[in-house]
Amino acid sequence: MTKGLENTWRDVPVTEVCGALHLHTTYSDGGSTVHQLIGAAREAGLDYIIITDHETMAARQNGYEGFTNNLFVAVGYEHNDADQKNHYLVIGPANVTGIKGPPQAYIDAVKNDGGVGFLAHPFEKRKFLKNFPSYEWTALSATGYDGIELWNQMSEWLEHLRGNAHLYHLFCPRKFLHRIDAAHLKFWDAQNSRRFVSAVGGVDAHTMRYAWGPLHLTIFPIKVELKGIRTHLYLSAELPRNDIASAKQLVMNALRDGHGFLCNFRRGDARTARIGLWDNAGGFFLPGKTDRQIVLPAVIRVCLPQAGFVKLIHNGLVSAEARGRAAEFKITTPGLYRVEVYKQKNAWIYSNPFPVGAYPLF
Ligand SMILES: [Zn+2]
Ligand SMILES: [Zn+2]
Repeated sequence: MTKGLENTWRDVPVTEVCGALHLHTTYSDGGSTVHQLIGAAREAGLDYIIITDHETMAARQNGYEGFTNNLFVAVGYEHNDADQKNHYLVIGPANVTGIKGPPQAYIDAVKNDGGVGFLAHPFEKRKFLKNFPSYEWTALSATGYDGIELWNQMSEWLEHLRGNAHLYHLFCPRKFLHRIDAAHLKFWDAQNSRRFVSAVGGVDAHTMRYAWGPLHLTIFPIKVELKGIRTHLYLSAELPRNDIASAKQLVMNALRDGHGFLCNFRRGDARTARIGLWDNAGGFFLPGKTDRQIVLPAVIRVCLPQAGFVKLIHNGLVSAEARGRAAEFKITTPGLYRVEVYKQKNAWIYSNPFPVGAYPLF
């Protein structure tokens, strides 16, 4: 069956790029310079990174946007309210907005300025850490944002700390990245029942230094940070190396329209994973937003570089399961469909959804 599915995919022209976003540098509160970050990203073999320092696009002003060998570097920023809540990841606008609230005002301002925006770590908890309060998204009735940061590497790691950190947490930080929590998934699915809302995975890289008695160490060295949560995108064309603005727009469009999936690299390299839908009219659909009608019955096909436990989620609930490197799921009713892949109990891949039918989907 795997061979058959690989042959099906051979006819589909997609260019996959794998990257990391939500990265802080010394231009705000990160511990790595842009130079160190770019070096680590190149070493990790990433195709793109998106730098999002707090309230500044200094990395762009200093000429870091563009290609460095095979790596494409884009610069956005992370915005927040006057009271530090409601963090918003912004990519692509001309300027940093000066609007400090309400969130709907800066969501709209970012869009009008040509940017795309994602709610950052909207439901992070951190209830055990006095020094690291959580910064949730509180403006739940706001709308018009392009997507949400469904998986935040730093949030999940911090949530596993209870009281004093154990050395194990500090030396093996990626061991504590298990899965996206239920609150994020529930909110995301509910938003997608009404309109398309894409998902991205964020690193929230800070290269934090930590003092443990006399011991000073960097918990997540930048090289390690870039080997966790990644966002893979399916592009309609190769990134044009001689045209930075067009390359950036291609990446932004794919992020906004959700053409791709999130992956935890710690559980395996997901590069070459293919998730797509073929409908009864012979049409092919990538995960994410589409303007074309999907004609039922349809088939969602999954092809993986390594074996996994594949779950089909329909309207927020598991509706089918399969094990191995390939899976085929027949779709006969409308609704919101997406794919999750696990290795043992740990999540490896979350696809963006296929909205099938008219809104509201469920
Ligand atoms: Zn934040
Ligand atoms: Zn951040």
